[in-house]
Amino acid sequence: MTNIVLFGPPGAGKGTQADILKEKYNLVHISTGDVFRYNIKNETELGTLAKSYMDKGHLVPDNVTIDMLKAEVEKNPDVNGFIFDGFPRTAAQAEALAKLMDETESEINGMIALEVPDEVLVKRLLERGKTSGRADDANEDVIRERIAEYYRKTDILKEYYQKEDRYYGVDGVGSIEEITERLSSVIDNLK
Ligand code: AMP
Repeated sequence: MTNIVLFGPPGAGKGTQADILKEKYNLVHISTGDVFRYNIKNETELGTLAKSYMDKGHLVPDNVTIDMLKAEVEKNPDVNGFIFDGFPRTAAQAEALAKLMDETESEINGMIALEVPDEVLVKRLLERGKTSGRADDANEDVIRERIAEYYRKTDILKEYYQKEDRYYGVDGVGSIEEITERLSSVIDNLK
């Protein structure tokens, strides 16, 4: 199996690239943000809970997110591998993911991070907000809070994967095709 964590702050391009890479490498794409939005749309209990955090630009609590991620992985036995997009976002989530991978006798082969300057992120998200219909893209304060939350809780995960020699940083500024090329050359050389 090849399991990749596609990493980076909000607006780095994780979703866009995961959509391309899942076809190219025959991987299952799991975006925790997409699963939350699906639950919000269908007005489930999980959706109502998640929405109260997402609307403020805050992370949904770990226990809820981890249980949901596990269920998504378990829905897909016998696959070639996963692209995790937007998960893990905290140290507890990274631990849970490592444990889950162990249980399925696989591992995270690499965390690939899209590196993009903050001001570019804000610009991209405001632009995306014109068409995405996402409440959290529509307001600059919420966008900035999401980026702040990334630096408070998520950015440290780089060290977690660096320690295991599984961290790969990629320049996330350029055309979609250029960035796919950069990501592909990392994936093609994963251990
Ligand atoms: P995203 O689609 O990845 O930008 O996520 C949108 C929002 O969903 C985030 O701002 C969080 O509120 C929530 N979310 C998505 N993934 C996670 C996660 N792994 N942990 C906690 N909250 C998450």
